[in-house]
Order: sequence, then structure tokens, then C-alpha cells
Amino acid sequence: MNHCPLTRTRRRPAAGLLILLGLLPLLCLLIASRKTADYEPPLLRVKLAGLGPTTTVSAPGLQWTAGGRNGRADTVALAWDGKSAAVNGRAVSLPLAFTASGPISVDGYPFRGGIEIAAGPPPIVINVVDVESYVTGVINHEIDSRWPAAAVDAQAVIIRTYAIKRRRERHNGPFDLDRTASDQVYGGQAAEDEASRASVQRTRGRVLTWQGQLALAQYHACCGGRTELPSAVWGGQDQPWQQSVACGHCQDAPRYFWRWPESGAEGARELAAALGLTGEVLSVTVTHKTATGRAGEVEVRTRGDRLTLTGQELRKRIGYDRLWSTSLTVESGPDGFVFRGGGSGHGVGLCQWGARDMALKGLAAEAILRYYYPGAAVELWRGD
Ligand SMILES: [Zn+2]
Repeated sequence: MNHCPLTRTRRRPAAGLLILLGLLPLLCLLIASRKTADYEPPLLRVKLAGLGPTTTVSAPGLQWTAGGRNGRADTVALAWDGKSAAVNGRAVSLPLAFTASGPISVDGYPFRGGIEIAAGPPPIVINVVDVESYVTGVINHEIDSRWPAAAVDAQAVIIRTYAIKRRRERHNGPFDLDRTASDQVYGGQAAEDEASRASVQRTRGRVLTWQGQLALAQYHACCGGRTELPSAVWGGQDQPWQQSVACGHCQDAPRYFWRWPESGAEGARELAAALGLTGEVLSVTVTHKTATGRAGEVEVRTRGDRLTLTGQELRKRIGYDRLWSTSLTVESGPDGFVFRGGGSGHGVGLCQWGARDMALKGLAAEAILRYYYPGAAVELWRGD
């Protein structure tokens, strides 16, 4: 049924009104794009490393400023002897700031934005970079940018949300984010490619929110069929958008099913050694399962010992690349023990292999995010 008022009126509307109505979609588009254009990417302070004895900083037209002094040189040899710093052999006081019109290389690795040496102690090398460039340099460390665009876009929104949330929480500290896996792995310009830049462009400024607040969004490789609650992995309280959802999309993952050892069985003596025990393991029993069926508590018995571990601790002791998840069962036979499981990673939040499948089936990034974080929204970040 057509509800357009223009088809129901018998009088011809004024030409001016027609033109205005015709222009309406264009006006809406202009207003929407202006909102995105108004977005100012916040600057992040990303810790690259502790300051070593020698560091080379270089960029065409590189400028530096320290303690009221400044200089210009395409390459700077920065020395630190544990007490004082020197630039190209001349003593300077920290902090020290480097700027250039393009990326600045630190020991050969290029980073967008500026480089600062914070006084410490101990002094640290910091990349001051806008969040969009940061996300571009993270995507390929957390997902493959060659995956379907909607899955990469969902990941980009999560990376941006995490970064801005940490920036707010750590604004009194010396830096907002560490470039390692303790936050998100950031490779600077060297980690960028066309696909990661395109994803950041498509999702520019978009963050995951719950009732207008930034929503922390965990993710993992493959849930094995159902995602896990954060409280089951790390304790604490689950947030409203942190729910366990049936996935059913990640069967293509290489570790949807896994077995350890890959063939045969792990001997009772070898398993004891892997767990930090002496003698031989007599039994391994899952004594408590989480609400989603993962191993919450495991009891290991040897002849003279009984060890109770959380499922997470069991994975840690035996190895994250042996027990790929806590969704596991244990069998014992004359040759030893066999662990069989499903999925890889902690299982909380977005399942990357599930997101990949949903993207292949045509779902948009926002639909994928709303599936794994029920009730959350994707919005343009509007500032602190
Ligand atoms: Zn899944």
C-alpha cells in the first residue's frame, strides 16, 4: 500500500514543495555525513616499549622538542644510560617529543602520529596516535583483514571501543594502551593493508554501546557452538550485553573439534609432569561444569596427591595450544589420557569464526555485533 500523501491529494502541490520533497533524501544524507565528518578521532598514548640504551628515530623533516630546546634532523640517535638522555650526542632532558608530517620510524618500524619519550621512571617510548590509525594497525593482529568485510568491520568496532574505553580509564596513567597482547597487539603502519584501511573507513568513529555507554566487548576464535559468560572465566559480574548465545555458525573453524594429543594418548607420567606433579596421573575428572557445559573445575589424582584446578588453570598448565578450550572431556585408557574438545579460546563474546560465517551469509557488521552482544548498539562516538 502506498501511503505517500502526494498520490492521495487531487490538487497539484506547489512546485517548490515538490522540489523540497525531492531534495529530502539528499538533505538527510548531508546531515548524516556531516555528523560523521564532525567526529574528531581521540588521540591515544600507546606504549611501544621501555627506552633502551640506544634508539633510532627517523622521518623526513623530523623535529624534536625537549625542555625548551628543539632541533631538526631526519635521523636522531637517542641514547639513554640509565640516568640521562642524549640526542645525537648532546644531552637533553626528558620528556622528549618527535613530530613529522608523515609516519615516524622507531628502530625501523613506522608509526603514524607523534613519538614521545616519557620521563618515567623508567622512561618509555610512546606513540601518540589517533584512534582510527590505531585500529588500522591492530586489525591484522586480531583478525585476518582478508576475511569477509562485515566480520572485519565488527572486529574494527570492538577494537575501537576497547581503545577508547581504556583511554578514559587510564587518563591519569603514563599511557592508555600497551601495544602487546596485554591490551591489543598494535603493529603500527607495518600492520596496515588496503583491507584494514577500508574497514576503518567504513566503521569510522563507530563504537559498541549499552544505553549510551561504551560496552566492553570480549571476543575469541571459535566458541564450539555456544558462547561463554565472562563471570565463568574471570569471575565478577556479567554486564547486560554479556550473555551466552547459541552460535551454530563456527563449524568451519579448524578447531571446531580438537583432540590432544593429536594421535595416541598422553602417558600418565608425562601428563603429571605437564601439570607440575610427580609420579603418574591416575584420573582426571571434570567435577564442575559451567552453565554452558565447559569444565569449570577439574580434579587430578596421582598416587599420593589430589589437585583441584579450574578449567582455565588446567589449560594454562597443559598449554593453550594443546587444550584449545575448556569445552572438553577426558578419557583414560591403558596408554594414557585423551582430551577431546570443541572450539578455541575463552569463548566469551563474539565468536570470530561465527562472525565470518554470518558475514559470508550477507549479515552486516551491526547485525553480527548485536547477535553476540544482545541489546548493545553501534553508535558514532560522541566524545568523553
Ligand atoms: Zn561460534
